[in-house]
Amino acid sequence: MEKLEKLYEGKAKQLFATDDPEVLWVEYKNSATAGDGEKKEDFAGKGRLNNRITTLVFDLLAKRGIPSHLVKRVGDTAQLVRKMDMFPLEIVLRNTAAGHFCSRLGVEEGIDFDEPVLEYFMKNDELHDPFVNDDDLVVLHVCTRQDLAEIAPLAKRINEALIDIFAKIDVKLVDFKIEMGRTSDGTLLLGDEITPDSCRLWDQRDHSGKVEHLDKDLFRRDLGDIIPAYEEIERRLSELAASEGIAID
Ligand code: UDP
Repeated sequence: MEKLEKLYEGKAKQLFATDDPEVLWVEYKNSATAGDGEKKEDFAGKGRLNNRITTLVFDLLAKRGIPSHLVKRVGDTAQLVRKMDMFPLEIVLRNTAAGHFCSRLGVEEGIDFDEPVLEYFMKNDELHDPFVNDDDLVVLHVCTRQDLAEIAPLAKRINEALIDIFAKIDVKLVDFKIEMGRTSDGTLLLGDEITPDSCRLWDQRDHSGKVEHLDKDLFRRDLGDIIPAYEEIERRLSELAASEGIAID
């Protein structure tokens, strides 16, 4: 597969065309951003780790009946994905109170919910990715009611599968962000990435009583180096994938 012209550059990834019109080439970068892009830093090895982690998570999800856009990993920092028409949406699932949920609603961090909370944020840098509801999305023609009737249950299924995956490596899945799109034949698929950049992951192997973050909150809140945490997630997911017979190289 040949890597052709750059189509897009985001905060953590670059997207390239390939000689197959249905396939894109994703390059994971070493940069981390937080606070709406105000805080930015490069971490050697982050691109490689996130490329591996996304691949492992997507493979583990596929094993649980949830396909994604991933075709295959093709190098340290690169993977091939199916081209999709993406919904300009950040789909957030929360199992435990953290982040914006706490600041917006005055709730203490760490409270477990009786049921998952599904939230949508419209991807729009100028407006700082505003929080929106179903009606907003429909009247703005971001998606249809029918789209939402597919997106919401898929998001909940992904949450259940991810809770299972992370529980098996002694990690609590607090919340995460996903993105979805449709392939040229109209199939709704999970896209983008699932990494410690896009999830809050709390270590359950630490018994000190305080929260041990294995995610980007280490960077957001200046709590410590992200690389050892990302390495730990990669190591545990690799072991889980191997135990489930998933081929990893
Ligand atoms: N998230 C993300 N990208 C964003 C905003 C949030 O991946 O642009 C993830 C974040 O890592 C967390 C979840 O979505 O796992 C919920 O984030 P929240 O709304 O609490 O916002 P934050 O506090 O991260 O700004």
